[in-house]
Amino acid sequence: MADYQVLLYYKYTTIDDPEQFAKEHLEFCNKLGLKGRILVAKEGINGTLSGILSNTKIYMEKMHEDSRFRDMVFKIDEASQHAFQKMYVRPRSEIVSLHLENDINPLEVTGTYMEPEEFRAALEDENTVILDARNDYEFDLGHFRGAIRPDIKAFRELPNWVHKHKEQLKNKKIVTYCTGGIRCEKFSGWLKTVGFEDVSQLHGGIATYGKNEKTKGELWDGRMYVFDERISVPINQVEHHIVGKDYFDGTPCEQYINCANPYCNKQILASPENTEKYLHSCSYECRTHPENLYIKKQQFSKKELANRLEAIGETLPETIS
Ligand SMILES: [Zn+2]
Repeated sequence: MADYQVLLYYKYTTIDDPEQFAKEHLEFCNKLGLKGRILVAKEGINGTLSGILSNTKIYMEKMHEDSRFRDMVFKIDEASQHAFQKMYVRPRSEIVSLHLENDINPLEVTGTYMEPEEFRAALEDENTVILDARNDYEFDLGHFRGAIRPDIKAFRELPNWVHKHKEQLKNKKIVTYCTGGIRCEKFSGWLKTVGFEDVSQLHGGIATYGKNEKTKGELWDGRMYVFDERISVPINQVEHHIVGKDYFDGTPCEQYINCANPYCNKQILASPENTEKYLHSCSYECRTHPENLYIKKQQFSKKELANRLEAIGETLPETIS
């Protein structure tokens, strides 16, 4: 039953006192029983939250009454429960962290907006480079067919990646995309300021593209990574090709786990069988780490652990007690 909604939204606009705004906004959200994460900065607001239908409706109405957010677009997913545990509203210096030396104001410079239908055509245009502006682990679970995958772990690494791959992008028509569009606003603007001339961005991001009645999410493969408890959502309404690969054996996989070594915590795609087999850990070092949460929880004896390691061709390190 879809009694809940998950909202995703952002708006570049001037918020004079982010600290004060965040305080009041948290109260407002709590009153409505909403849960989620909202970032507020002088440059705007970036949020994702969940709540029961009647309350997300009130939230959107109230936001639209504020002249700063009058035309804010909410991407809405139906849900059967909350997608977050808590409600945070945090003042920040940026609503997406790009950490540029000279910050970009998307209200002044940004890539040309491309609507879903136009973007779909661009996906099939040989002269266009489709550049995924998300992190590698997001790409690995799902992406547009033929898109370029920057091997970055965080958005702020993207400019450096572009500098290193300039040749690949030179004199090309570049189209960027991300989850909801917010990262591309800044990133496409930055691309223009460093000399790329023909830069566009998917308006409203993958989330909007997936709900578009004409495109129906076509040419998207896999699932879209989301930063809430759902982990991922479907996009392509017509067909489903799994692109995710199991970290251990490369078989098709769409399930993310976190490495049980708390100092690693790396997200890897793994089937339930391999998760168990490899002790919920990404590497030998992590499997035999003294703080490994899975090992601790299982309370393996030394012998049991040695047997489990032996099954995957590994031996107990001598240092383990
Ligand atoms: Zn690990």
